[in-house]
Amino acid sequence: MNLLRLTSRRVYSTHAPKISNGFIGAIGNTPLIRLNRLSEEVGSDILGKAEWMNPGGSVKDRAALYLINDAEERGLLKPGGTIVEGTAGNTGIGLALMCRTKGYNCIFYMPETMSQEKVDILRLLGAEVYLGPVVSYEDPEHIAHQAKRHAESLDNAIFTEQFHNLANRRAHFETTGPEIYAQTDGEVDGFVCAAGTGGTLAGIAQYLKQMKGDNVKVFVGDPTGSALHSYFTSGKTSLESSDVATVAEGIGQKFVTDNVAASEDLIDGAFSISDEESIKMVYRLLDEEGIYVGLSSALNVVAATKLAKQLGKGKKVVTILCDSAHKYQSKLFSRQWLESKDLLTAIPKHLQKYAIL
Ligand code: PMP
Repeated sequence: MNLLRLTSRRVYSTHAPKISNGFIGAIGNTPLIRLNRLSEEVGSDILGKAEWMNPGGSVKDRAALYLINDAEERGLLKPGGTIVEGTAGNTGIGLALMCRTKGYNCIFYMPETMSQEKVDILRLLGAEVYLGPVVSYEDPEHIAHQAKRHAESLDNAIFTEQFHNLANRRAHFETTGPEIYAQTDGEVDGFVCAAGTGGTLAGIAQYLKQMKGDNVKVFVGDPTGSALHSYFTSGKTSLESSDVATVAEGIGQKFVTDNVAASEDLIDGAFSISDEESIKMVYRLLDEEGIYVGLSSALNVVAATKLAKQLGKGKKVVTILCDSAHKYQSKLFSRQWLESKDLLTAIPKHLQKYAIL
């Protein structure tokens, strides 16, 4: 009885901000989660920034907000206007949700290999979605160029250009970087993540290097075949590297975006990570940490363990958990899909029980 009364009177203490100002006010301030089993294994703290907890479900809400604010501030986006962008899906989801609250229209071009879940989400949010071929950036049919041409053909429309628009990097310089620094009390020894546009990598690198100089090491984790690994490890000359082999969505480029180029001097090195390593980590994170994330997050965690091993024990290494696995579950947990990509055997036998679709 007493106990019950005590329990019911207990005041739960929280550091959560009180009331968010609409969708936009709920972006950012995501938890930094210690991945306990992995941290014990490598002898350093492996810390994942839980970006799937943003209201649009990914790290790209931050960039979407800054892209829209920048366009509004520069007078490029007027009431009733249309936003056009090339996206793997997540920037589109963030933009589409903001368009709903602000009364804009949105049109997205996506690579045709992206998950059906993301296409469905965007369409049900009221976006017009066009699927384009997976071709090199030089090809005029690349989704970014198609999006640009579409914007130019409409009145009161803008192409937000996330690859090259530095408002993308600024989102992470002004929010994600400072959050990581504050959440670790400034004791962050390493940061690593993959790059799509490179906004996340570049903005966080810029902030952490400004605060800690060489006392923090910043690496890029690159899927096999993507250009950035060779760009950062062999004197920036091997951009002609082969096909990007990854099935991870939203990362892996064959060209250097302006966002990456703007911070290239701040990157200390790169790891090349295979889809096999990443898919295995998707399943391990689910099984051991109760963390249900997509392939890019898993790749980031693999990269974080490699960086931790390189830095030596007792360090704090931070990475990004970009989005949840929900948007990819028809692929990542389908035995048929895994077999079609030769990835089923990369998953340890005892973890294959999760592949139920
Ligand atoms: N992971 C996922 C799932 C993404 O959609 C993206 C963005 N395309 C990234 C990682 C990479 O983020 P950025 O564009 O900031 O490099």
